[in-house]
Amino acid sequence: MWEFSTEPEFQAKLDWMTRFVVEEVEPLDLLFPAGGDPYDKGNAASRAILKPLQDKVKAQGLWACHLGPELGGPGYGQLKLALMNEILGRSYWAPTVFGTAAPDTGNAEILAMFGTAEQRARYLEPLLDGDIVSAFSMTEPQAGADPKEFVCRAWHDGDSWVIDGEKWFTSNARFAEFLIVMAVTDPDAAPHQRMSMFIVPADTPGIEIQRNVATMAERDDLDEGIHGYIRYREVRVPADAILGGPGQGFAVAQARLGGGRVHHAMRTVGQCRRAFDMMCERALSRRTQGQRLADKQAVQTFIADSWIELQQYRLLVLNTAWVIDTQPHGAARTQIAMCKVAMAKVYHDIVQRALHLHGSLGTTHETPLAGMWMSVPALALADGPTEVHRTTIAKQLLKQYSPAEGLFPSEHIPPKLAAAQERYAHVLKEFA
Ligand SMILES: Cc1cc2nc3c(=O)[nH]c(=O)nc-3n(C[C@H](O)[C@H](O)[C@H](O)COP(=O)(O)OP(=O)(O)OC[C@H]3O[C@@H](n4cnc5c(N)ncnc54)[C@H](O)[C@@H]3O)c2cc1C
Repeated sequence: MWEFSTEPEFQAKLDWMTRFVVEEVEPLDLLFPAGGDPYDKGNAASRAILKPLQDKVKAQGLWACHLGPELGGPGYGQLKLALMNEILGRSYWAPTVFGTAAPDTGNAEILAMFGTAEQRARYLEPLLDGDIVSAFSMTEPQAGADPKEFVCRAWHDGDSWVIDGEKWFTSNARFAEFLIVMAVTDPDAAPHQRMSMFIVPADTPGIEIQRNVATMAERDDLDEGIHGYIRYREVRVPADAILGGPGQGFAVAQARLGGGRVHHAMRTVGQCRRAFDMMCERALSRRTQGQRLADKQAVQTFIADSWIELQQYRLLVLNTAWVIDTQPHGAARTQIAMCKVAMAKVYHDIVQRALHLHGSLGTTHETPLAGMWMSVPALALADGPTEVHRTTIAKQLLKQYSPAEGLFPSEHIPPKLAAAQERYAHVLKEFA
């Protein structure tokens, strides 16, 4: 049974969200545009606007929709979440207003999955309530895409673990109440069992933020960056700070990244749609050589290609969400990687065309397009570079195949033709 429609009751919620995000949330993007603003609990003005908006979301039963009912979310599942994230993707602030901002979402998921009762009470509950911000500290200055190259160490010392090493691009480190840190605990173990994950309160002695780095989209002319370059200098945490068991760091990281990638893909559909809407409005508004831009064939090609690419991508994301909802854990692995690869390309192509159609205005900071354009490179890197995901896709697909028997491919026509002639020889003979 194939079904492509939304239940009317849920559509009503989506309609409410669309109005709410455009009218009440998007203004925050303009008033507080710095990369760190949604996470900065110290900004009294932004908090005074944010809190009542979060209360409205909670009253609608739309708070933290990535979570199941056991964790205080409505448990809508990934497909409905995808439709919601399309709306949230339009606004930088919207995920914070709806309690679904990364990296807190992924951190909440692994705390729920691997945390002890004490860890959940101390860290997960305030995180879910939106009272605190967290960070995920995995990438290192010398290695990102390949965790097997990580060297930040942790070792037992009495009743403690001691963490020592450097981490790079820990988003929101400067706002975080705690950091989840991946460190090598058994360098001699098999690569995927070498590392463990630790929950480290941000005020633990020895955590030194060397500097906060801004991506080009976050614009450090507005604020310092939000991605912490951190030196963990013999940081001592109690034995029970480990999240999951020793050697489980890789498994914990994997559990976290799948959800993060697909949620990002869902929000990117919304961003692409916003760029597409701008492209169409511009095509109808601007005139050249006695015609609207919309009447030029080149512009029509921009619009048609963008819509086709967006719809293909949207269907891939929705289908991936459906696979996550309906099939066993891990079944969507290849599709999540496909969403990740497609996301960067589709976003690049659609934003580029929208920006180009806006001419000189498109190159300024006077429309959202400049911010979108400068987000393009990060999309192809955050949560793993495109190449790595392509490798995952190809490896998974190739598992379904085996080498041809003999010298020629199994689709080699001469033997297949001979077999076809033999199969229908009796008929051919009759009509010869
Ligand atoms: C906006 C943003 C937020 C981030 N937030 C966090 C965070 O909160 N916590 C955290 O730990 N990290 C974070 N990261 C880091 C992110 O996870 C890494 O950027 C990513 O894993 C890639 O690592 P790298 O930057 O070291 O690039 P590298 O690993 O050095 O890769 C650079 C390039 O090398 C090539 N390459 C690498 N591997 C392969 C391969 N197997 N095959 C072919 N080519 C390859 C690709 O062209 C790739 O783009 C964030 C990154 C961004 C951009």
